[in-house]
Amino acid sequence: MSAQLIDGNALAKSIRADVARRCAALKAKGVTPGLAVILVGDDPASQVYVKHKVNDSHEAGLHSVLERYPATMSESELLARVEALNRDPAIHGVLVQLPVPRHMDAGQIIKAISPAKDVDGFHVASAGALMIGQPGFWPCTPYGCMKMLEAIGCDLRGKNAVVIGRSNIVGKPMALMLLAKNATVTICHSATRDLKAHTLQADVVVAAVGKRNVLTADMVKPGAVVIDVGMNRNDEGKLCGDVDFAGVREVAGWITPVPGGVGPMTRAMLLVNTLEAAERAAGVYRAD
Ligand code: NAP
Repeated sequence: MSAQLIDGNALAKSIRADVARRCAALKAKGVTPGLAVILVGDDPASQVYVKHKVNDSHEAGLHSVLERYPATMSESELLARVEALNRDPAIHGVLVQLPVPRHMDAGQIIKAISPAKDVDGFHVASAGALMIGQPGFWPCTPYGCMKMLEAIGCDLRGKNAVVIGRSNIVGKPMALMLLAKNATVTICHSATRDLKAHTLQADVVVAAVGKRNVLTADMVKPGAVVIDVGMNRNDEGKLCGDVDFAGVREVAGWITPVPGGVGPMTRAMLLVNTLEAAERAAGVYRAD
């Protein structure tokens, strides 16, 4: 039987609607959540991403500004802009679109963002907070994956979860979030010897690699939940994930499509984090 689809577009839409409601409530108290997005250079994919982020923010009623700078901008000039935004009371979230040009150190730039405005959740303080279960900003992509699992009523307690990929922005935080919900978590990566042996035991698989067909039907336990974070191009140039969707959907219980799965959720969670940053600054934030 074919797996049920986890519709990221529909779920993201309802999350955006909720953000818009909470944003209106905050505005009624005199606070408009503000997001500043900085783009350095003219990477085509980054230009599309920042446009979406700013448009999504406007649609939800947030104040958002896009600052664009040439690739020749120096690192110290960028750090000065970040520091100015850290001090700006109208801005609650600061995001520097990655990748930055090669002459810049992305780590230093992320470190310069105030942890109180780190709505991407990439700062070491945010990573540390997630690690020890303290309040902080969760990286948007794994946060969106968790919302998807929640939306389908997946109780993670005692479940075997396998995360394929161990990046700082997806794989590792994903594993920590699953662990926090009492899953038994295995992290696989490029040096993992027998990926299939791990994934076949998994009730939940999150694929975050960036390679097509990393997960095929023979690697999936019947009924498992499969979340596909990957973004790749197939031979026809169409967007596809890490999962062999056509094959795996015949074995899995639930599956996310690409496009229309994790991507829209990532965008929605940025709005959630920005709204929460504003709510925290206004002293009205209440965790779920
Ligand atoms: P990344 O930093 O390149 O990390 C990829 C991870 O995959 C690494 O940990 C790597 O292992 C592991 N890996 C590589 N080949 C493998 C293999 N054959 N088997 C098992 N693991 C393997 O990538 P990322 O930033 O985490 O992103 C992963 C994918 O998600 C990309 O396609 C990216 O475009 C996509 N993405 C999508 C969204 C969205 O909103 N939809 C957001 C972020 C990222 P090592 O650590 O050993 O090298």
